[in-house]
Amino acid sequence: MIVQECEFFKEYWVQQFLKSCEHTIDSVVITSTSPQEHFLYVNEAFKKKTHYTEEELLAKSPRILQGPKTDRNVLNTLKQKLKNGKDFFGTATNYRKDGTEYIVHWHVTALKNETGETVAYISYQKEITQEVINQNELKLLSSAIDCTDQFVAITDLNGNIVYVNSAFCTKYGYIKNDLLGHNINIVKSGMHNKSFYKDLWETITSGNSYHGIITDKTKNGHLFTQQMTITSIKDKNGNTNFYISVGNDITELVKKSDEYKELAYKDELTQISNRLQFDTIISRKLIFKKSKRNTFSIIMIDIDDFKYINDTYGHDKGDTVLKEFTNIIQKELRYNDLFARWGGEEFVILIDDNLQNTQKIAEKVRIAIEQQLVIESKKITISLGVTEHHQDDTDNTLFKRVDDALYQSKRSGKNRVTVL
Ligand code: GH3
Ligand code: MG
Ligand code: MG
Repeated sequence: MIVQECEFFKEYWVQQFLKSCEHTIDSVVITSTSPQEHFLYVNEAFKKKTHYTEEELLAKSPRILQGPKTDRNVLNTLKQKLKNGKDFFGTATNYRKDGTEYIVHWHVTALKNETGETVAYISYQKEITQEVINQNELKLLSSAIDCTDQFVAITDLNGNIVYVNSAFCTKYGYIKNDLLGHNINIVKSGMHNKSFYKDLWETITSGNSYHGIITDKTKNGHLFTQQMTITSIKDKNGNTNFYISVGNDITELVKKSDEYKELAYKDELTQISNRLQFDTIISRKLIFKKSKRNTFSIIMIDIDDFKYINDTYGHDKGDTVLKEFTNIIQKELRYNDLFARWGGEEFVILIDDNLQNTQKIAEKVRIAIEQQLVIESKKITISLGVTEHHQDDTDNTLFKRVDDALYQSKRSGKNRVTVL
């Protein structure tokens, strides 16, 4: 559409230019300079964008594009710029015929004739609605991530930091610029071995999320434990460009849980492991042994005539005997041997060794008690059963055999070791 009201548009080169505008993707509009500003020319792209026909636009004011979200300040700036003979660049919200809005990047410049007089204004409008939506979404996401208490970091594929949120900076004691561009190794605590990090990198580079507990170091060298998830950020083609890690400090929780674990696995009177811990470790060993050749053995101990001790010297003295008994045996054991109270005055020892060597340890223990555990000049003795783990053992068959061995020691006179 060209309103032939001005000589200027009859020029050959102007005609040629407008022809070329018919094929551009972006809107091109020419408006008059008269007080009653109106469309002189609109290209195909503009009609398509606004859903107006040429007839509907003819001689109309460009104000028909405006609506509630059209920023008056932008329009004032436009007016001011053009008045001062300058080009205008800005962003505006336009409205289509059906009232739907779209956002454009807008450039307006004056068209002048040979004598330098402005004869019209030409506008170029490129729609940027999606870009603005994306940008707003990004701004929202970025401020949401910045608000969260969790420590968030984004790195490139080599582990170089491209983003950290405020919580991350506060926790690690850095300012953002200390971290951006640096490798995430900067927070490594040295508490994990190479295979830990190898496993982590293998997980994320294979496209899976990593969930784990990791100890990191702050700027001033303080170590803390965090629960962390690392996920890859993929582009629309499915290629990973970045990794995002989200963590929260669980140092206190881990400390508490260790304390509870210790309480749950400890016998209060003797301060050695309790039956729960022993059972747990044996169950693990039974699973593990299916694939390993290393053997292990168990010693079961019961104090001889303990009822008599309780009855004669009192329950408290009995408790003291149990504690002394424990101390003597502990001195005979190696660091790796697991000594536990099975219940009452029955104890068990897990030895990572074969039957023959375990029998020797059991004998050593028996002699140590016989020689050292004395109450009111009465010697206290123990009976022991020993067995080695068999390939097809369940915990039931294993404990039944060692219990039988102990029973035989009792039956055949006490203060002895029986091997089964
Ligand atoms: P045996 O030689 O056949 O083992 O005879 P025993 O008298 O030792 O018999 P048994 O093993 O059945 O006796 C266990 C006794 O241990 C019974 C119980 O009163 C006592 N006992 C169990 N737990 C404790 C404890 O924590 N403290 C004290 N003082 N005594 C306990
Ligand atoms: Mg008993
Ligand atoms: Mg007993």
